[in-house]
Amino acid sequence: MSKTTPEWSQEIDRRRDGLVALRRDFHRHPELSFAERRTAESIAERLTAAQLEVRTGIGRTGVVGVLHGDRPGRTVAWRADIDALPLTESLDQPFVSGTTGVMHACGHDGHTAIAITLAEILAARRREVPGTAVFIFQPAEEVFGGAKPMIEAGVLDRPRVDEIYGLHLTTQAAVGHVSMRPGPSMASADFFDVEVVGQGGHGAYPHLSMDPITAAANILVGMQNLVSREVAAQETAVLTVGQFTGGTKHNIIPASAVLRGSLRTFNPRVRTQIKERLTAYAGDIARAYRTQARLVWIDEGCPTVVNHEKETDFVRRSAIDAIGPDHVHDGDLVMASDDMSLFLQVRPGCYFRVGIAPTDGKPHPHHAPEFEMNEDGLPVGLRVGLNVMLDALRG
Ligand SMILES: [Zn+2]
Ligand SMILES: [Zn+2]
Repeated sequence: MSKTTPEWSQEIDRRRDGLVALRRDFHRHPELSFAERRTAESIAERLTAAQLEVRTGIGRTGVVGVLHGDRPGRTVAWRADIDALPLTESLDQPFVSGTTGVMHACGHDGHTAIAITLAEILAARRREVPGTAVFIFQPAEEVFGGAKPMIEAGVLDRPRVDEIYGLHLTTQAAVGHVSMRPGPSMASADFFDVEVVGQGGHGAYPHLSMDPITAAANILVGMQNLVSREVAAQETAVLTVGQFTGGTKHNIIPASAVLRGSLRTFNPRVRTQIKERLTAYAGDIARAYRTQARLVWIDEGCPTVVNHEKETDFVRRSAIDAIGPDHVHDGDLVMASDDMSLFLQVRPGCYFRVGIAPTDGKPHPHHAPEFEMNEDGLPVGLRVGLNVMLDALRG
């Protein structure tokens, strides 16, 4: 296990302001999934200036930078996601989003800035770097769309990557602290639409129509009951209906109603089982109300992030080496999802978490207009990331 020498440490300290400025630049110019054009251009420019081999347009708007160290070693990938969310920022800062309705509210601006700076540090000391570092800048994480086309484009095969690592910033942990968890660590996510079709009519004569609103309401409540009755108590599943639409007026029974929701699990077996049951159940309940319902699962969803045991232990040791044992923790199960899972299905690795909680005591949840990061967490992520990459490249 290597110590981050004073020289490497200086590289981090020297770049601290640049790292924050870079994050703010991405924050000011957020772009939605698969529309990360300026972002991709900025990444490619920086990597090219650092003399990495750069490939753009990978998985539509993704960028890959390959850095060959001068010493023999292994081939290790670092993955960062680069997209923003459809939200309007509520904070008042000079670097707030310049695009109404689009905001970096998950920290991907920080992930991108850390990964670029990490690549630049390795490039600056290329003579001491063993092996080959592959920097994967993935688009469209927020719609679980970017990992798959990048893998299909061969980012793990040319060159052949031995292991893959990455981090997610979190406002649920204090600055200075990182955590990781072996095995299942972030939930799977699946999204569904249920369209309930009945027969519209006058609100005064429900017996002459087939009311899709009442049917949909019972499907909604019933789906929650189904999760509690059909998932073993020691397993986990969370179902949320986030959208319920139908009708136009107080006294008109509409012809249809729509529910949209998501399902999260950790165990692939539970995921398959509960998806099948929900599909059948929606139809069964609808029939009880003389309506029809079709539950449709959208795309393939996102599988559980499963960290590999050996590589997670390796990241823990490397992180302790970088920031000390008091700052490295066993991670909790995270109910959010991330398509880093797809990379980890193909290569061993670990996705770990880095604290960026602001100190004002207010919640700054991810995916909310009031999301805010404590930028003091950025150099911590960089420090741990650099140590992990150096250790992994040396093998
Ligand atoms: Zn997110
Ligand atoms: Zn995220």
